[in-house]
Amino acid sequence: MSEYNVLEMARQQLYNSARYLDLDDGLVAVLARPKRAVTVNFPVVMDSGEVVVYEGYRVQHNPSRGPTKGGLRYHPDVDLDETTALAMWMTWKCSVVNIPYGGAKGGVKVNVKELSKREIEKLTRRFASELNIIVGERSDIPAPDIGTNAQVMGWFMDTLSMQCGYTVPGVVTGKPIELGGSEGRVEATGRGVIVCAIEACHNMNLNFEGSRVVVQGFGNVGSVAARLAEREGAIVVGVSDASGGIYNPNGLPINELYEKYTGVDGGIQNYKDCEKVSNSELLELDCDILIPAAISAQLTAENADKVKAKLVVEGANGPTTPEADKIMHEKGILVVPDILANAGGVVTSYFEWVQDLQNFFWEENEVNDKLSKIMRRAYGEVAHVMREHNTDMRTAAMIIGVKRVADATIMRGIFP
Ligand code: NAD
Repeated sequence: MSEYNVLEMARQQLYNSARYLDLDDGLVAVLARPKRAVTVNFPVVMDSGEVVVYEGYRVQHNPSRGPTKGGLRYHPDVDLDETTALAMWMTWKCSVVNIPYGGAKGGVKVNVKELSKREIEKLTRRFASELNIIVGERSDIPAPDIGTNAQVMGWFMDTLSMQCGYTVPGVVTGKPIELGGSEGRVEATGRGVIVCAIEACHNMNLNFEGSRVVVQGFGNVGSVAARLAEREGAIVVGVSDASGGIYNPNGLPINELYEKYTGVDGGIQNYKDCEKVSNSELLELDCDILIPAAISAQLTAENADKVKAKLVVEGANGPTTPEADKIMHEKGILVVPDILANAGGVVTSYFEWVQDLQNFFWEENEVNDKLSKIMRRAYGEVAHVMREHNTDMRTAAMIIGVKRVADATIMRGIFP
C-alpha cells in the first residue's frame, strides 16, 4: 500500500464513523488534519567523520482531550503522510480507552541497523534538540516505536533535561525503570490483548480456558500474549516469528520457547516437537483465537476466507486490510481492532507519565490491576456500541474514539 493510501485509509475510517455520529462537515475537516506537523533536517557526525543529514518529523494530531502522545519510529520508510496517519490513529486509540491524551507520532528516516550505538545516541540527542520547540511533559510526550527502545527514550529525556536545567522524566514514556519508567510497561500491550481476548470469549460464550490460540509474532507483544494466554489456561498451538511458524495441536511449551529459543540463532525454529509451518499457513491453522502480533496487512482478501479462528485479537497495528475485515465480518468472525486490543501499551505509558509527574511510583500489581480495569471497561463500551449500531467492532471503536474527540473539540470551541 502506498504512503498516500495510508493517510487516505485513516481519513476514510474517520469519514465512515462521522456518518454514524452525524458530525458537521467543518468539524470533520478539523479532525481529518493534524494540528501541527514539523519537519526537521539535522546533521550528525558519523564515527567515520562524515556528516550525514537526516530528515525527521513530529506530527501532533488533536490535543482537545489533553497533551499529545505517540511513538518515535526510526525506519527508512518513515515519511510525513504515514506519520500523520499514525498520529490520527493514536488520537482514536487514546480516546477509545478514555485516557486524557490526543495522538501524535514522529520519526526519522534512517536505517538504524547501519548505525553504531554512539551514532544512534548522537542522532537521538540532535533529533530531541530539534523537537524541543514542540515536545514537553505537558504538551507532547513521545514513546518507543519501531527502531527505538527504552535506551533511546533515556537519551531523549536526558537531552531535554539538559536543555531546561533539571530532570524532566515525564517528557517521554517507555523509559528504563531506573530513569522513571513504570513497572509493567514492557508486558502491558500483550496483557491488554489477553484481557480483550478473555472479555470477547465471555461475550461469545467461548471458554478462554482450554481454547486453542495461535500467535503470529513472538516479539514483545506476541511472546507476552502467548505466555499470559498459557497462564490463563489456554492452549497455544501455534506461534511464529519472521523466520516462520511452529505448530503442535496438543500445545507448545510457551515459557520454554521464550526462555530457551528466543534471542538465539534460528530462534523458535530450533524447537523439535512440532510441525513447521509458514507464516501464511499459521494464520489458517485450526484454532479458536488468532492473535496477529507481528506486522501490518497479514489478513487480506487472499486469506481471510481461510481463517478458522472464531476470534481475532489484533496485537499488531493494522494487521487486517479493509477487504479482509469485510470477509471475516460476513463469516461471523469477531475481530477486536488494534485501537482497542493493543491500547494496553499507551495506557501504561499514561500510568508512567502520571507516576513521573507525581514522583510517586506504583507496584507492578497495582499497574496491572489498573490496566485490566481500563481495558475491560473500554472493551465493554465498544461491545455495547457494536450491538447498538449493529456494526463490526472496528467501526464501533472508531465511533467511540471519534465521538469523544469531537465532543471535546466542540466544547472547547474555536479560538478566538
Ligand atoms: P517486536 O519487534 O518485539 O516483535 C515483532 C515480532 O514479529 C518478532 O517476533 C518478529 O520476528 C516477528 N515478525 C517480523 N516480521 C514478520 C513477518 N513477516 N511474519 C511474521 N512475523 C514477523 O515488535 P512488538 O513490539 O512486539 O510489536 C509487534 C506489533 O505490535 C507491531 O505491529 C507494533 O506496531 C504493535 N504494537 C506494539 C506495541 C508495544 O507496546 N510494543 C504497542 C502497540 C502496538
